[in-house]
Amino acid sequence: METENDNGTPGISSVIPGWFSEISPMWPGEAHSLKVEKILFQGKSDYQDVMVFQSATYGKVLVLDGVIQLTERDECAYQEMITHLPLSSIPNPKKVLVIGGGDGGVLREVGRHSSVEQIDICEIDKMVVDVSKQFFPEVAIGYEDPRVTLHIGDGVAFLKAVPKGTYDAVIVDSSDPIGPAQELFEKPFFQSVANALRPGGVVCTQAESIWLHMHIIEDIVANCRQIFKGSVNYAWTTVPTYPSGVIGFMLCSTEGPSVDFKNPVSSIDTNTDYNKARGPLKFYNPEIHTAAFCLPAFAKKVIDAK
Ligand code: SAM
Repeated sequence: METENDNGTPGISSVIPGWFSEISPMWPGEAHSLKVEKILFQGKSDYQDVMVFQSATYGKVLVLDGVIQLTERDECAYQEMITHLPLSSIPNPKKVLVIGGGDGGVLREVGRHSSVEQIDICEIDKMVVDVSKQFFPEVAIGYEDPRVTLHIGDGVAFLKAVPKGTYDAVIVDSSDPIGPAQELFEKPFFQSVANALRPGGVVCTQAESIWLHMHIIEDIVANCRQIFKGSVNYAWTTVPTYPSGVIGFMLCSTEGPSVDFKNPVSSIDTNTDYNKARGPLKFYNPEIHTAAFCLPAFAKKVIDAK
């Protein structure tokens, strides 16, 4: 459901003129707001409203259906953690699939792992790709990697066609379970992810906020426990412009070589030409990797419950 104000622009609040307020039934009774300096793009694709605005304090901002997807200032936290938590947990990942992630930021981070030979991405909305290339070149730089193949389509259908055991890692960088991403949070999709992974392969999915969505997280954990026979883990990090200021990740592995997600086994060579051209990591490091799995008591009780 979209929230529109009187001039029909999703999320642009008329409560405080000149501010964007992220009003959504996914976080009732609260709304994070950013001061808007200028609206740079507004469009409607076959799947969602797409907007870009220049904010006063977070750089440019990408909004889909009235929900902030990324800002120039804090995208590093999300893109680096959703990528390096899984890829640094296995030795020498070679074949990686990204579902969603049309802005290209996860591609940029996957490419930092020099062992990776093949990066496939399935993004449903070409408008997101085009808008990111136009307004977020430091994020969309991920597409300039010759290892990347872009598929425009539904990730659910894409995974159904993937031969068994194809990938070392799958990263599900999806929007929220309202709109085109809804099926990416459901059991059949997780089953198709498990099928696409090799034994001991890993998946990392965007898994909402422990402050707002414990009911969604509880269901995801239960589904993952039934499907992924390696290990099932929940990690979280801070992203100031996401609702409640945090975002979580489900990290699971298929049966096979054991994966200890909490202790990274591979490091990123920051001295490669690729990584020097993309600048240093701004958020991820081995210590914050391990710390990401430390949960507050209220979340641990739900997530660790057998
Ligand atoms: N990477 C962003 C960030 O830094 O926060 C967040 C999310 S990214 C923009 C989410 C993407 O998932 C969107 O581009 C959206 O179009 C895509 N998406 C949603 N449902 C999808 C589906 N069923 N298949 C493929 N892509 C989907």
